Amino acid sequence: EAVEGVSPRQRKPESDLTMLSGMDPLVIRPDSNFVNIGERTNVTGSKKFARLIKSGQFEEALDVAKQQVEGGAQIIDVNMDEGLLDSEEAMTHFLNLVASEPDIAKLPIMVDSSKFHVIETGLKCLQGKGVVNSISLKEGEESFLQQARTVNKYGAAVVVMAFDEEGQADTTDRKVSICKRAYDLLVEKVGFKPCDIIFDPNIFAVATGIEEHNQYAIYYLEAVKQIKKLCPGAKVSGGVSNLSFSFRGNNHVREAMHASFLYHAVQAGMDMGIVNAGMMEVYEEVPKDLMTLVEDVLFDRRQDATEALTDYAEKVKTNGKKLIRDLTWREGTVEERISHALVKGITEFIVEDTEEARKKYPSGLAVIEGPLMAGMNVVGDLFGAGKMFLPQVVKSARVMKTSVNYLTPFIEEEKTQSDEGAKGKVLLATVKGDVHDIGKNIVGVVLGCNNYEIIDLGVMVPADKILDTAVKENVDIIGLSGLITPSLDEMVYVAQEMDRRGMTLPLLIGGATTSKVHTAVKIEPKYSGICMHVLDASRSVGVVSNLLSKDENLRSNFVLDVKKEYDQVRTQRAARQEIKQYVSLQEARENRLKLDFEGYTPPKPTLLGSKVWKDYDLASLRDYIDWTPFFSSWQMAGKYPQILEDKVVGVEATKLFNDANAMLDRIIAEKWFTAQAVIGIYPANSVNTDDIELYADESRNQILRTLKCLRQQRKKATNRPNLSLSDFIAPAGEAEDYMGAFAVTAGVGIEKWVKHFEAENDDYSAIMVKALADRLVEALAEHMHERVRKEFWGYDREESLENDALIKEKYRGIRPAPGYPACPEHTEKRQLFDLLKVEDEIDMQLTEHFAMYPAASVSGWYFSHPESKYFGLGQISKDQVEDYARRKDMKLEEAERWLAPLLNYETS
Ligand code: SAH
Repeated sequence: EAVEGVSPRQRKPESDLTMLSGMDPLVIRPDSNFVNIGERTNVTGSKKFARLIKSGQFEEALDVAKQQVEGGAQIIDVNMDEGLLDSEEAMTHFLNLVASEPDIAKLPIMVDSSKFHVIETGLKCLQGKGVVNSISLKEGEESFLQQARTVNKYGAAVVVMAFDEEGQADTTDRKVSICKRAYDLLVEKVGFKPCDIIFDPNIFAVATGIEEHNQYAIYYLEAVKQIKKLCPGAKVSGGVSNLSFSFRGNNHVREAMHASFLYHAVQAGMDMGIVNAGMMEVYEEVPKDLMTLVEDVLFDRRQDATEALTDYAEKVKTNGKKLIRDLTWREGTVEERISHALVKGITEFIVEDTEEARKKYPSGLAVIEGPLMAGMNVVGDLFGAGKMFLPQVVKSARVMKTSVNYLTPFIEEEKTQSDEGAKGKVLLATVKGDVHDIGKNIVGVVLGCNNYEIIDLGVMVPADKILDTAVKENVDIIGLSGLITPSLDEMVYVAQEMDRRGMTLPLLIGGATTSKVHTAVKIEPKYSGICMHVLDASRSVGVVSNLLSKDENLRSNFVLDVKKEYDQVRTQRAARQEIKQYVSLQEARENRLKLDFEGYTPPKPTLLGSKVWKDYDLASLRDYIDWTPFFSSWQMAGKYPQILEDKVVGVEATKLFNDANAMLDRIIAEKWFTAQAVIGIYPANSVNTDDIELYADESRNQILRTLKCLRQQRKKATNRPNLSLSDFIAPAGEAEDYMGAFAVTAGVGIEKWVKHFEAENDDYSAIMVKALADRLVEALAEHMHERVRKEFWGYDREESLENDALIKEKYRGIRPAPGYPACPEHTEKRQLFDLLKVEDEIDMQLTEHFAMYPAASVSGWYFSHPESKYFGLGQISKDQVEDYARRKDMKLEEAERWLAPLLNYETS
């Protein structure tokens, strides 16, 4: 009755835009930019991915997909075609895992296989609207139609290769006629929507030395134009790296070829492609002479084009190392020079250029608001587009600050006040109990570069101070940072406090252990204002500019979207939570790992008790450095040393690496900081299954400490134990066992240097020195562990492993660190520190939340059993939390607070 007389809603006409989706839609509009398809999740294209899949390391393989997303891929191509793999199973398993990772699952998936049954298997796992890659007329119309109907039934889009019964199409005519034939069949016989058809008219290698290949680029470009005309609505794609196959090993030339080719192909109508972001070198930035040679090849403009480009390639190969200083940019206008200096991070001429600009412009302020801001906008855009990397941006900031510094006295004299100051004020702080600030400082620099005023309260900042300052300084946004898990709770507290005080400022959350899920589930519900997680520094600008936008509509839409998204995250998580099964603590204990101590005698250490080094030789640590995390601290993804040769970040990574080593030379030669260490090894046994007792001496009568370990409670597959670290130590009565501990730091004395560089406006060096102290302390931990195995415990005197093998943990024994997955509860660090008397012996301390100070510190336990290994505790149930509270002599609520990220239940 209620709807009587009301006519049904008018259905909107179906859109003819190409729309794909994972959890988020990807709509390709006429004005959309080129769509990147990530290519690394392909066992035939990526050795690394293939290795991970073949060895069953699917979780790590997921990271490859994640990196693609972070690298800017908008669609992810997944291919499992490998002779030794059960491709269907691998496809299913991987895609199901992808579906549980919102960061990846938001993208549409391209299911890639030459076997149609694998494709169909993949389609069954997709949510949203994916793409099939690919079908073709290779085996005739009948099978083509049948496959197309299946794809259509699953609602996916489809890539059609320009391939027919006679083979792959090479000439323009063949490419076009095959695509047109396929188009007609799909549209007329199968009922495919044109916007769901994507043609791949084959990009082949040029400059191969074979004459017939000289026209391949032209054929493709021409074919794209005609296909787009003849097949309205259809899209065109292609695999770009094929093109430059002849120049393997010479990325410089390859990038130039891709840049030019894509530039022309996109103009011709190419919509998307399987590319590595490294091929996205900016067209204008390729040197003119090289570009001419490249285009001579692509457009077959001269007979000897291939030879000429090959000669050039040889030359840059051999000359690559020689740095010829190009000062032609000095000939530009002052605005151009300032912009160049900012983009390239060159401080050398900035003062003289600033002075010149000051004379030319009406005031000092006008220089800042004019050429300097214009230059920084270029930097911001390039960074946002993934064409500049973090270390470069930080160097730009230095140029900016040097220039502003020079102008400041003039501006003060001018006494002009401008309303056109910063775009907004952002307060940043590392929360109480935490000391880590590299990431936060980077965010500060990046936002500063984008003309936001930053108030940085530093580390270990209590909630009150953060909020009082925010009010006093009238800031627009608060950003909290933290690295250790107790900081998560502190952030929840800050959010609650903001709410209690009735504040409405946006609250941003960032740092290593923070996540969107945690923010959505634990923090955001506590605060009625807007609260969101920011994944990394490069995202901060977008978020802040949306939140502070003058466009009220844009701002409120953004806020609504975030709120909606976080609601979804909570729902999803609640749904997932229920699937996991847990066993009781008692069952878990019964299912412990029972090592055989009858046929195995634990090795007796050479050193019993502790040993202290107050000034460890820094030079001896250099060879133990693991450089890979160094690059990630600068937000450059990739493994060392390969990263130095990486297509995308290689050049910048090499510069960064050279700068790091130059500073390291000085750190060591001039003893910038002191490295210190305490280790100890003690008789030990496990008792009551989950505790470990450490004894004063071999009589094992006097207990020094009792470590309280936690045990996995997730229901395990048959024959898989529920692990606890205590399983790796012989139970009392079974054997005389031992256990060790260590606490090392490389941060003593670093403050002075950080201040020194900050005073010089040199954020780059200030961040660098911290990143290097972090590397040195990890190196010290690695080196000391080796000495323990070889000397102090002495169970592996003959061990001889290269650094690479050390990093891969090829040795016997482990050194789990409190706060990490096997022993994630931080208060046990107190036991470690008291056991070794760390705070008395060396300059290392624990904060009230058990972060170690200085930040460049590491501590952990030593286990020697050959079967000992790292594991993740996972979540635990209330029965274990109650038991743990009893063992630790804590109130249940207190235990729940320390274990908060690990609880599989909600607390009141
Ligand atoms: N080469 C790295 C080493 C640090 S990460 C670097 O230079 O940064 C590896 C360390 O993290 C291990 O030695 C151990 O101390 C800790 N760790 C890793 N996984 C762990 C786990 N599951 N439980 C406890 N500690 C773990």
